[in-house]
Amino acid sequence: MEVVGEEDVVIVGAGIAGLTTSLGLHRLGIRSLVLESSESLRVTGFAFSTWTNAWKALDAIGIGDSLRQHNQQLHGGVHEVRCVKRKALLETLERGLPNGTIRYSSKVVSVEDSGFLKLVHLADGTTFKAKVLIGCDGVNSLVARWLGFKKPAFAGRSSIRGYAYFEESHGFEPKFLQFFGKGVRYGTLPCDNHAVYWFFTYTPSPQGKPIVSSQTSHCSSELGH
Ligand SMILES: Cc1cc2nc3c(=O)[nH]c(=O)nc-3n(C[C@H](O)[C@H](O)[C@H](O)COP(=O)(O)OP(=O)(O)OC[C@H]3O[C@@H](n4cnc5c(N)ncnc54)[C@H](O)[C@@H]3O)c2cc1C
Repeated sequence: MEVVGEEDVVIVGAGIAGLTTSLGLHRLGIRSLVLESSESLRVTGFAFSTWTNAWKALDAIGIGDSLRQHNQQLHGGVHEVRCVKRKALLETLERGLPNGTIRYSSKVVSVEDSGFLKLVHLADGTTFKAKVLIGCDGVNSLVARWLGFKKPAFAGRSSIRGYAYFEESHGFEPKFLQFFGKGVRYGTLPCDNHAVYWFFTYTPSPQGKPIVSSQTSHCSSELGH
């Protein structure tokens, strides 16, 4: 076992949760090390509808205004709603961190107690000692398993998402459109003048039968998805 070093705070996972936690600590003057199993930032995926609370969190860690510059506010609600591309969010979070904060190709395979410290073992044979270990390693979290948390439960919702990129300006109004009915919800949100994010989700009734509704409705909504 090669022990590489002792860290005050080790965060497992460089997704949105891990990078936000690390940047929040950095703003408070606390260094952390983020261990990420991938070779580089996982910037695939599409976009998020981000609401007032998300913007409060992004402001608190100092990246709200730089993201606002590229993501127009959508009209029609009392909330601040914008559609942010996943890649832009992750890259902005990463840029805010000091060099060397994220250690890529660092898959955590096990954790063990060692007095007041945690030993964090990686697939490449190295081990970090940590005073504080924070699990931000997604839905199949190894840290959650180690802590004895229950397995994630399937919420029953299926979903597809994407965004359409228009070379010319797309001409959509800056509005969040959602359409509902029979367990289905779909909608569109422009991210900027060229990209429109779309989503389609299906939630069956608790009995597994399609939800029957008397009416299919549509609205410019204040709900998230
Ligand atoms: C590639 C990807 C694309 C997505 N696209 C969209 C989208 O377009 N729209 C949307 O609404 N939602 C999307 N999601 C879902 C959304 O990003 C997540 O619900 C949300 O980001 C959860 O963030 P998280 O940081 O908790 O977990 P995650 O985003 O899952 O991040 C967890 C990170 O931990 C790393 N990791 C896991 N296990 C280990 C380990 N043992 N050791 C080290 N590192 C580990 C993973 O590689 C990952 O980078 C996407 C998720 C992913 C992973």
